[in-house]
Amino acid sequence: MRIGTLGEFRFIERVKKRFPKQSNAVLSIGDDCAVLGFTRGRYLLVTSDMLIQDVHFDLKKVSPSRVGRKALAASLSDIAAMAGIPKYYVVSLAVPAGMPVAFLDDFYSGMIKLAKEYGVELIGGDTNRADVFICDITVIGETEKRSLARRDGAKTGDDIFVTGSLGGSIKGKQYDFTPRLREARILVRDFRIHSMIDISDGLASDLCHITDASGVGAVIYEARLPVSRDADSKYGALSDGEDYELLFTLPPGSDDTVLNRKLGLPVTKIGKVVQRRRGVKIVTSEGKKRRLEKSGFRHF
Ligand code: ADP
Ligand code: MG
Repeated sequence: MRIGTLGEFRFIERVKKRFPKQSNAVLSIGDDCAVLGFTRGRYLLVTSDMLIQDVHFDLKKVSPSRVGRKALAASLSDIAAMAGIPKYYVVSLAVPAGMPVAFLDDFYSGMIKLAKEYGVELIGGDTNRADVFICDITVIGETEKRSLARRDGAKTGDDIFVTGSLGGSIKGKQYDFTPRLREARILVRDFRIHSMIDISDGLASDLCHITDASGVGAVIYEARLPVSRDADSKYGALSDGEDYELLFTLPPGSDDTVLNRKLGLPVTKIGKVVQRRRGVKIVTSEGKKRRLEKSGFRHF
């Protein structure tokens, strides 16, 4: 079978089965970061993300500094998803031989600015040659054991929330998004987070990552979705990726006005966690219940 037929997620499942966790790693494959024992009270977090020219970005349309910023920001967003504090990063590059050095300097400028803002330090990397520009960033972070947020903790009855607005990130947010590190730390400090993920693939897909990992179902309401002004339609809020907002669940009773105030940005209650046998559903604006698929939802 070809990888294109198997698909990314089933491929990762396959690798996970072949390499079950064997050390004292708390989490290996399957969450936004790997989680490792560190000190008595703290965990170490590790995550990596790769961007490839002409797959993820077009250098005719976007400056190298924006690509650099995005590469680091995407990994920082995965640290946020675990409610971690980022500390160090490692940059591996593959570069065409004819690429101007000024391009690479600009690429690093994009990272430096963001790195300063979040207090992360570049500690190494690797440099190679390839036909297109490829960058892979690994970020190492940490968190107090009690603050760790995972994908697999959602419980039946939880409310489902999302930060910010969703959809149409292609118009610019895909490069300029804010990794929700500050917000995630407030969430674990002031609320009882049961589960959390960052929305990189799209709400529908990432919600399914939470429900699959937690062994639960979910119902969300189309009318409640915080659709971005940049989205082409409500559907974009479900299936467009790269918003890098936080999707999380809290025990019932939490109010989005309180969350709004504490986080200083819009937070929307979009649905509820239900029993697994009820599946993952969306109630459309017309009041019809539909099965939510990873790519969005079926209209018929
Ligand atoms: P995210 O979208 O949050 O960056 P991914 O979907 O890329 O997460 O990855 C999900 C999980 O699968 C992570 O734990 C990641 O480390 C793991 N993973 C992805 N690709 C591979 C691979 N080729 N080999 C081993 N683990 C992988
Ligand atoms: Mg993620």
